[in-house]
This record gives sequence, C-alpha cells and structure tokens, in this order.
Amino acid sequence: MEKLIEGIHQFQSGVFGQQRALFQRLSEGQAPEAMFITCSDSRVVPSLMTQSGPGDLFMLRNAGNLVPPYGPLHGAESAAIEYAVMVLGVKDIIVCGHTHCGAMKAVLAPDSLARLPATRHWLTYAEATRQLMESHYQALPDAKRLETCVEENVLVQIENLRTHPAVLAGLSRGTLKLHAWVYDIASGDVLVFDAAAGQFVPIAELS
Ligand SMILES: [Zn+2]
Repeated sequence: MEKLIEGIHQFQSGVFGQQRALFQRLSEGQAPEAMFITCSDSRVVPSLMTQSGPGDLFMLRNAGNLVPPYGPLHGAESAAIEYAVMVLGVKDIIVCGHTHCGAMKAVLAPDSLARLPATRHWLTYAEATRQLMESHYQALPDAKRLETCVEENVLVQIENLRTHPAVLAGLSRGTLKLHAWVYDIASGDVLVFDAAAGQFVPIAELS
C-alpha cells in the first residue's frame, strides 16, 4: 500500500497540477472515445498501451474479458454496455484479450478450478470458447493452444456483445463498430482481428 499512497502524493503534487484544466473540464462530464472491455489482469494497462488519458476510455474489466450474453438477469456488464452506447454514445467497442491470461488457462484446464466455485461459475460465459478449443484445437502444443484460446475467446465475446439490444441497434444504424484485439504482454504488440483476412494481424498491418 505504501507504494500506492506515495503515488497519490506524486499525482496530486505533479500531474494533477499540470493538467488542472483537463480535470476541471472532466468534472463537467465525460465523452469517451471508446468502450474498452478487457481482463482484470494487472499487466494489461489500456491507457498506457493506447496512450490515452482521463476521459478517453469507458472501461469494463473482469476475469477473462467476458461479455455475458444479454438476458433476463441484467448484470454489471449489461448495464455498462447499455450506458456506454445509449447514454455516452460511444462509436467503438473494443474487446481486448491478452497473452498468458490466467482465466483462459483455467478455461483450458477446468479441473484447476475445483476450489474456486465463483470463478468456475463466471467462466461458464467462456463455455463456447472451451468447446471450440476442445473440438478444433486439441492437437496444438500448450503455448499455441493458450494463444489460440485467447484469440477465439475474444471473438466469442464479440458475438456475445451482439446479443445486447443497444449494440445491435448501433450496428444496424452504422453508428457503432466492434473490434477484437489481443495484447501481447511480452512484446507490447497489439493484434487486431482482420475480418477480411479471417485472422488476427498486427495493428499496423490492418488494411
Ligand atoms: Zn486475463
């Protein structure tokens, strides 16, 4: 905790003073560039990797960057998505998975969750990912399997996003776009799903 408290002192005596006008403006409201859905993993720092600042990204984070499909049990995810699209009017939603994801490791090894009932329940929202991995990618070596699982899961969650009425409406109006990304922790690379090519490509190569 000491490190965090020291950080607050530094923030208040340094950064905040230098950007006082920005924070004053933000106190009047937010108009974020995009909604960013990613994993809770501490190694994923969206504002750092996109070099964005306060007010730029409307964030939704959970273990495995999962998006429960829309349904009668409106959870935190549904509310955040609805608010982002209907109230804030975000034009883009990014689902960003990442390499070495613990949640995806657990999807590939469900037995490891015997003592974690809440996690096991939560990861049922990645059940389509698990089934896809079981039916198509059993033969891959472990590291490649995890990499593929991360990518497939991002695409599964994009499909889940489409079940949310606000998202569907935005897509049909042409005012909303969905983006599937994977962040590589070791290299800093960001891969983006290129629908035309049917695969993830480095973001710089996206046509
Ligand atoms: Zn993760």
